[in-house]
Amino acid sequence: MDVQQSLAQINEQLKIHCEKGNITTVPHVIAVTKYVTIERANDAYQAGIRHFGENRLEGFQQKKAALPDDVVMHFIGSLQTRKVKEVINDIDYFHALDRLKLAKEINKRAEHKVKCFVQVNVSGETSKQGIALDEVDTFIKDLEQYENIEIIGLMTMAPYTDDEPYIKDLFKSLRAKRDEIKALNLNYAPCTELSMGMSNDYHLAAEEGASFVRIGTKLVGKEE
Ligand SMILES: *Cc1c(COP(=O)(O)O)cnc(C)c1O
Repeated sequence: MDVQQSLAQINEQLKIHCEKGNITTVPHVIAVTKYVTIERANDAYQAGIRHFGENRLEGFQQKKAALPDDVVMHFIGSLQTRKVKEVINDIDYFHALDRLKLAKEINKRAEHKVKCFVQVNVSGETSKQGIALDEVDTFIKDLEQYENIEIIGLMTMAPYTDDEPYIKDLFKSLRAKRDEIKALNLNYAPCTELSMGMSNDYHLAAEEGASFVRIGTKLVGKEE
């Protein structure tokens, strides 16, 4: 299927599920291009997509260099501390802040404020990156000292399962935590956004009020 058709289907689903969840703002779609070529990423651009996501340094730099200048680049994967300086000033949104050491390095290398999501491991699965839900408050308090870090929201990856009520509960918990932090009115942590939902569960994330969904396989495909 071409990207335009996939995007049309996704937009249709987003609309349906936002209505179902009484959500008035449809989430931004980030095209996750980590499995595909530059050519395919360009097809997504032609289809009208402007938000792009990559989870590795090499892929990020390659796609950023190849795509037109008006794209918004999201780094959605974990980033090694020693690689921060190579890429941080090319990142528009960083979705995987989960260690103070990383925050410190970003703060040091960034030439401007970086929009960051704190990555939360809501399910508590040991295989997932991110900090535990009950550690989010303390972690965010500790970030105040870093003037180049702006906490714009929370991000999570749900486990791969067909258990939709379970996934919805995880998304609900993240949203509740986001609302809590937002209500603190912290200057450095407005925390208005929610990055959640992938190919398998973006429709559920939309129902629960995601502001960014990160879609790879169902949007641009997956090249073996
Ligand atoms: C790969 C990836 C995605 C997209 O995954 P799909 O299942 O292909 O949609 C989203 N978020 C993160 C953090 C990823 O690493």
